[in-house]
Amino acid sequence: MAETEKGSRPLRTFALRLAVWYATLFVIGSIAIVVLTYFLTSVSLEQRDQQIVHEKLGEYAVAYERGGIAALTDIVRAEQSTAPERLFVRVLDRGSEMIVLSGPEGWRPEALEMASLRLGDGTLVEVGKSPDAREDLLARFRAVLGLVTLSIVVIALGGGLLATQSALAPIRRLIDAVTRIIRTGRTDARVPLAGTGDAIDDLTALFNAMLDKIEGLVRAMHGALDNVSHDLRTPLTRLRGTAELALAGAPDAERFREALADCVEESDRVLVMLNTLMDISEAESGAMPLQREPVRLADVVARAVDLYHDTAEAKGVTLAVAPGEAVIVSGDRTRLEQAAANLIDNAVKYTPAGGRVDVEIARDGNRALLRVRDTGPGIPADELPRIWDRLFRGDTSRTERGLGLGLSLVKAIVEAHGGSVDVISEPGQGSTFTAALPNLSPM
Ligand code: ADP
Repeated sequence: MAETEKGSRPLRTFALRLAVWYATLFVIGSIAIVVLTYFLTSVSLEQRDQQIVHEKLGEYAVAYERGGIAALTDIVRAEQSTAPERLFVRVLDRGSEMIVLSGPEGWRPEALEMASLRLGDGTLVEVGKSPDAREDLLARFRAVLGLVTLSIVVIALGGGLLATQSALAPIRRLIDAVTRIIRTGRTDARVPLAGTGDAIDDLTALFNAMLDKIEGLVRAMHGALDNVSHDLRTPLTRLRGTAELALAGAPDAERFREALADCVEESDRVLVMLNTLMDISEAESGAMPLQREPVRLADVVARAVDLYHDTAEAKGVTLAVAPGEAVIVSGDRTRLEQAAANLIDNAVKYTPAGGRVDVEIARDGNRALLRVRDTGPGIPADELPRIWDRLFRGDTSRTERGLGLGLSLVKAIVEAHGGSVDVISEPGQGSTFTAALPNLSPM
């Protein structure tokens, strides 16, 4: 459980960070809208006040021009008692003598929303409106907006947390499942897919695929270790038996010589296997020293075929070399012979009596091809991708001698030469192995 908690702590911090980010953006956006609303409302209220003042000013000017000061005074008085909101009105004659003044005690014109108009005869009409009502309204509005902002912050934080929690829930499930697998060490366990088809599902599927791969590699490693142990044990047991037998009998130089010769043969077998394993590693890591020189592929094939001629004949398999083109590659003659020999060895080994093995050299543009075709049992489709793996042996091939290293070595050598290997095979239809190398021969 402790590991799960350890695993989910960063996730929780991440969720919190996401929530805070979300909430911050949400709050900033909302506050911007609130401030803009307040500003627009305040401007529009101010404009409304100015409009009222200007309209009144117009009305008073018209009344003054029609009926003189008496008419204006009548209107102002009438409004004093009926109008819902009192206005400040001041009329000054040309000599700045006050003619009419209306407005509650203590009103100062400079604190009011003022507008003035000079009439044709020089009379100045001034109208003012107190901003108190407007400010009162805005103060209430501010209080409401404050509450709204507070609610927005709470909603943003809560919503952010909820949203991130639910968005991260699948990741948490994935982490839990992975942690469980790591804790139990069960590489056969898989993380169940949520079936939503989203990115997390993709990630889960990839993770499962990775587990498949790891499981396959671990299985192959176990199998390889089993094979190596088994293949080492047989010659070592024989070696020990031979030595023991020689020691048990009477001292006899000739018997000792024979026993020692057998021991040398057995240790050679062990050495071949270990050397091949090291060769593959070296070639794969690029550390294999290659004595490169221009090599005629026909020579390579001739020597390799020579090695298996007798074996093929004894087995009743026809081993033939097709008269091919004169193709030259740049490579290490010994290593190339080793690769060709391994392909021919397999073909002869797996082809039953009465079958054929054809070796051919061809040129395909800038590639030199070495092809080994047999009429053997073919390779099942599920084994095809694995035949190049180290120590892999086909299920039905175990009756034949072999270490499961031949094709890995072929691949490693050919790739170390900058080439590639390929196989076409179907069960019952035989196999065709092709090694393609960079071609040196003139076109
Ligand atoms: P091995 O020592 O088993 O021959 P290789 O690495 O040479 O190991 O080959 C790996 C496996 O590929 C073999 O065990 C066999 O199942 C399959 N294979 C290789 N060559 C042939 C072939 N010519 N015909 C059928 N199967 C083959």
